[in-house]
Amino acid sequence: MTYSGRVAIITGGRRGIGRAIACELSGRGAHIVIADRLEDAAADAAQQITSECGSRTISIPTDVTVPEAVQELVDKTLAEFGRVDILVNNAGITRDNLLMRMSEEDWDQVLAVNLKGAWNCCRAVIRPMMKARYGRIVNISSVSGLAGQAGQTNYSASKAGLIGMSKALAREVASRGITVNAVAPGFIPTYLTESLPQELKDGMMKLIPLGRWGKPEEIAYAVAFLASDEAAYITGQVLSVDGGMMMM
Ligand code: NDP
Repeated sequence: MTYSGRVAIITGGRRGIGRAIACELSGRGAHIVIADRLEDAAADAAQQITSECGSRTISIPTDVTVPEAVQELVDKTLAEFGRVDILVNNAGITRDNLLMRMSEEDWDQVLAVNLKGAWNCCRAVIRPMMKARYGRIVNISSVSGLAGQAGQTNYSASKAGLIGMSKALAREVASRGITVNAVAPGFIPTYLTESLPQELKDGMMKLIPLGRWGKPEEIAYAVAFLASDEAAYITGQVLSVDGGMMMM
């Protein structure tokens, strides 16, 4: 699979899973735009990805919860590269707590970043993709969106919502050569999972047939496949990359 000349926007691409996706696509010839909130950290990451992974990577500071900022991200990408072929909605946060202790703000914030943020990005790229009659959108969901996780009513709802959104949009844009899919990672050690209690991690490990945590690169390989030309006949699907946790 090659991606030469393609342009990919990756939200939350400066670290963790997003960075692995950026590096994988860059190594295969795509130009990358990293969209994170923190300007300096994103610029450093873009520089490192360019020198360590392959193609030119730039950063455009973006808060995905702000529609105007997302529109500016897409406008600047088009001004810089003339096209946007791939969108990976990877930016995500957690604010875990049991429902009876969860604040409304924690609910709103998680939904705003994980679900509405992805919707904002889809809305901003869809016109240029339709015009080009080509597009690959990959939304990063989670096992929590498939099975639910205690303490994550907000996060699980946002990740299940991403799956519904992916399927609905897949139907809307299929005739224009645009595919929309979701990847549902299992447990991948990153900043996001650092603070989870050891007890919970031990419990999760018992549910993984392959008997180990996943690596960010293993999510990146799946995303790269769905973002390739070769995946043209796959749309509206959810690909679990979780060591067998969600076998159904
Ligand atoms: P990290 O916390 O390491 O990375 C999340 C990224 O999202 C950061 O780069 C962060 O950068 C960015 N981000 C957060 N809020 C915003 C915002 N409002 N606008 C733009 N960027 C934002 O997490 P992971 O790499 O682990 O997670 C990546 C994705 O994978 C998430 O969607 C997560 O839900 C999902 N996932 C992760 C799993 C895991 O086990 N790690 C399992 C299943 C799914 P900054 O703060 O600079 O903006």
